[in-house]
Amino acid sequence: MNVFTYTRVQDVAGAVRSIAGDGAARFIAGGTNLLDLMKENVERPTRLIDITHLPLRAIESTSAGGLRIGALVTNTDLAYHPEIERRYPLLSRAILAGASAQLRNMATTGGNLLQRTRCYYFYDTATPCNKREPGSGCSAIAGLNRMHAILGASEACIATHPSDMCVALAALDATVHVAGPAGARGIAFSDFHRLPENTPQCDTNLQPNEIITAVELPARGFTVNYSYLKIRDRLSYAFALVSVATGLELEGDTIKEARLALGGVAHKPWRDPSAEAALRGQAANQSTFTRAADLMLRDAKGFEHNAFKIDLAHRAIIRALTQASRGTPQSQSNKKIR
Ligand SMILES: Cc1cc2nc3c(=O)[nH]c(=O)nc-3n(C[C@H](O)[C@H](O)[C@H](O)COP(=O)(O)OP(=O)(O)OC[C@H]3O[C@@H](n4cnc5c(N)ncnc54)[C@H](O)[C@@H]3O)c2cc1C
Ligand code: SF4
Repeated sequence: MNVFTYTRVQDVAGAVRSIAGDGAARFIAGGTNLLDLMKENVERPTRLIDITHLPLRAIESTSAGGLRIGALVTNTDLAYHPEIERRYPLLSRAILAGASAQLRNMATTGGNLLQRTRCYYFYDTATPCNKREPGSGCSAIAGLNRMHAILGASEACIATHPSDMCVALAALDATVHVAGPAGARGIAFSDFHRLPENTPQCDTNLQPNEIITAVELPARGFTVNYSYLKIRDRLSYAFALVSVATGLELEGDTIKEARLALGGVAHKPWRDPSAEAALRGQAANQSTFTRAADLMLRDAKGFEHNAFKIDLAHRAIIRALTQASRGTPQSQSNKKIR
């Protein structure tokens, strides 16, 4: 049995003080990932710091015309918030494509960003895994790698980031707000998650003594031409093999602004400026979309069991861009299920 203590903090400063200098302490929010990891012996914190009473549950307008989402806003409350549904439907759809209603009721915005990979070997403490135990090796490279990365992988780790919400946040150019002993800072969403390189144990650029306080959305939300397309083994309750978040702004048939992010293919939501540049100023048609997909996947590399994902991602990109350009996003029921 792993013994741990439990404390509850009431404000952000108290949370930062509480975790300072204690590498074996963990914040707990919804607990939907952390508790599973503790049960599997992957995480063995000596102290759990309950942050659920922090005043971080608001969704507020910003002076820049966007929205600031508190780190403790649940996935359900975020997906069904009227301003999110109206101004950022891509985000709402991405959240509702993930997990189950019960999990979304518990899962928080901050926790979703920090959920760990779903690599089978990461959860199996009987096998080598560089992410869980640096230097022990990667069991997935020559093992079961069907769910694994086709972009940005390294010789140390080929895991993927499993979040749906984060793929939409990447496409929307969100900012992650954090607080720590040195004060508050904002991290551009594209810099928040890391590629594995030779330090796969570090998923993000959040410091161990920092807390996520909010995620900020800029004013531009892609209200008409957007789509979140998630391809998975089952229609619900399954992680993405490949997902695509896209938002377009059209003038007639011409693409004025384009965003494209992939999920399920890399250690972080994958964006490629050259693919988006290839969409801007072009006609919204099949050949433009094919060119963007080619660019997005030009460095893709498959392993024994996941090479099919390259072709799957190529087709998914074209389909999602077609859906977005026609204003017919991938259908997901927005009916409230709590
Ligand atoms: C069966 C199952 C299916 C799922 N399917 C999907 C899916 O299809 N798509 C998808 O996107 N997700 C899926 N999820 C994952 C789910 O969305 C995450 O578990 C959830 O978002 C994590 O949020 P939480 O608040 O419960 O985090 P917790 O489990 O409480 O915490 C997760 C980590 O984040 C840290 N943390 C939490 N909040 C903060 C903060 N504010 N600042 C700093 N650190 C913090 C904790 O210390 C911990 O390390 C699934 C989960 C399960 C169990
Ligand atoms: S892919 Fe990453 S998480 Fe999976 S076994 Fe290899 S090192 Fe561990």
